[in-house]
Amino acid sequence: MRVPFKPVYLKKAYKKFMYIIIHDYSCKFGTLNKVDTKGISVQDVRNYNWIWYNEFELPYHFICEKIGQDFETVMCRPLSYYCEYEDIPSVYLPSVHIAIAGNYNVIAPEQRAYQQIGYRSIASIMRWFSIPISNIKMHWEVSADKTIHCPGDLFDKDKFLANIRSLILVKR
Ligand SMILES: [Zn+2]
Repeated sequence: MRVPFKPVYLKKAYKKFMYIIIHDYSCKFGTLNKVDTKGISVQDVRNYNWIWYNEFELPYHFICEKIGQDFETVMCRPLSYYCEYEDIPSVYLPSVHIAIAGNYNVIAPEQRAYQQIGYRSIASIMRWFSIPISNIKMHWEVSADKTIHCPGDLFDKDKFLANIRSLILVKR
């Protein structure tokens, strides 16, 4: 299955990105992929998003997921378009949205996942757009909907930020 190619329906990003917002699948696809397995879920999620939400593009710029033995980061929505969420205030519109595949209300992420998502996407985005570590937010932190637990309660923000700090302090 191929989702129709309709970039004209996406909101163009015209401001410099100021925040990075972290998700898992729980806020939009919690029923689909509870646990990240070794298979690829990006296309399943993309098709589900089209069929059930009638959306032409995924609501994340990147997804980090386990493929085979290791974690890979896949670009989904191009950075030239915003991701819009009804429950997130407009001040956060210039945000890069990054999801970790799976529902982390069910199972805790592996240390390797924190490391790979930090290394393969976040550290370089922070540097490129001059985004401070204090502007990395969890979806639940910025949502107006207090029932949102995204990423799930077992996603350890402190452990995640510790991995990122170790990457951004490296200077060569
Ligand atoms: Zn979310």
